[in-house]
Amino acid sequence: MTKTDRILGGLYGSLVGDALGVPVEFAPRSARTADPVTGMRAYGTHHQPAGTWSDDGALLLCSVESLAEKGDDLQDMGGRFVKWLDQGHWTAHGEIFDIGIATRSALGRIRSGVPAEEAGGRSLHDNGNGSLMRILPVALACSGWDDNFLSDRVQRASAITHGHGRARLACVFHALFVSELLAGRTPQEALESCRRRFLALFADHPEMPVFRDLLSEPLADRSPDGIGSSGYVMDTLTASLWCLLTTTSFSECVLKAVNLGDDTDTTGCVAGGFAGLLYGREAILAEWVAALPKRDDLARLFERFVESLPSSS
Ligand SMILES: [Mg+2]
Repeated sequence: MTKTDRILGGLYGSLVGDALGVPVEFAPRSARTADPVTGMRAYGTHHQPAGTWSDDGALLLCSVESLAEKGDDLQDMGGRFVKWLDQGHWTAHGEIFDIGIATRSALGRIRSGVPAEEAGGRSLHDNGNGSLMRILPVALACSGWDDNFLSDRVQRASAITHGHGRARLACVFHALFVSELLAGRTPQEALESCRRRFLALFADHPEMPVFRDLLSEPLADRSPDGIGSSGYVMDTLTASLWCLLTTTSFSECVLKAVNLGDDTDTTGCVAGGFAGLLYGREAILAEWVAALPKRDDLARLFERFVESLPSSS
């Protein structure tokens, strides 16, 4: 499999995972146990047609576009997030039906002149998954770089909407894991290597106690009851890794993520990104990709993004 197959798998996988989760967002796990999602649904929570991605997908696409056109320019990236909020840029159907509190506050600050890198809230309450859900393109853009460089760039990109150390470090963990998948590692190998690299970067960081379980526990052995699926950044990161580690195909992974319930679109989006990177673009069900709107625009955008990366073959 080429790196391009993996990158396209990650990008389409994120959108597909988001869209699978949108119709059942906020419903509890018990509702999914009784009525599991098995494919693209229409309507439901947000009354959207099948294949509609949410804020996760839209902000991820704004990030892809910014990286493809401007490279490392976070002011531009933040500006495109504002364009999403004000004009529906990169929405599936022109409508914004879902936005996190921290993201709304941060984009308001950018609009009033605060530099994008300083816009994200930094309190303990600002540790939702709103930067993790959109960080994949940044992770892809700096996956071949030195870990200190990767960490700095990913943390700064997180801070556009989520500036607390926990959300920033969760994004770095995600980006390190992405770089391992992109290099063709198995999920377990990727996790072990990612743990070593993360420890080397942050051994003395005040947030390290929060990451202790993720760094030491045999994650794949955890029971579903030990996997949270709320909008808390550590839940989304842990759940997405767990879904990848405990399944053997793109479809199985992404449906397992959505059927955890609660913040289904974001868990689906992050897990779908991982699974797309692992299994590649062709492993995503054709009917799921066909359900996405704006497919020509997506294909052109992703082609420009891949061409902008240093070495993507
Ligand atoms: Mg969403």
